[in-house]
Amino acid sequence: MTDGKLQRAIDTLKQSGVRITPQRHAVLECLLTSLDHPTADDIYKSLEEKFPNMSVATVYNNLRILREAGLVRELTYGDDSSRFDSNMNDHYHIICEDCGKMVDFHYPTLDEIESLAEKVSGFSISYHRMELYGKCDQCSMAKVQ
Ligand SMILES: [Zn+2]
Ligand SMILES: [Zn+2]
Repeated sequence: MTDGKLQRAIDTLKQSGVRITPQRHAVLECLLTSLDHPTADDIYKSLEEKFPNMSVATVYNNLRILREAGLVRELTYGDDSSRFDSNMNDHYHIICEDCGKMVDFHYPTLDEIESLAEKVSGFSISYHRMELYGKCDQCSMAKVQ
């Protein structure tokens, strides 16, 4: 299942003329399969063993290329802790305040909030993000014990 997704992503890159290096392939695979909304650092750490010569800058560079190809979304937080999401469908996020775990939350896109915002502010709205914060089931359980 995820193999199909990886293959489609690689085809997209090839079509936009992006060369598939082993490292780029690994970063992409990492995003699509093993990790959930990882930071560049998470990806770097999970590939460190396989690519001991790869730098964090290379990971960032690959993430930028993947983002420009429309394969990954960057969720910025005003510092260098951006998280990367390979789910390009519109969705919201629930984030654990204790461990930082981030899960997808599917809810009909709140289009009306964008049109209302445009009306009251005169802005032309491009997108919106919604994040719900709380404690994941594991962290809630840890508290009880
Ligand atoms: Zn948690
Ligand atoms: Zn997501």
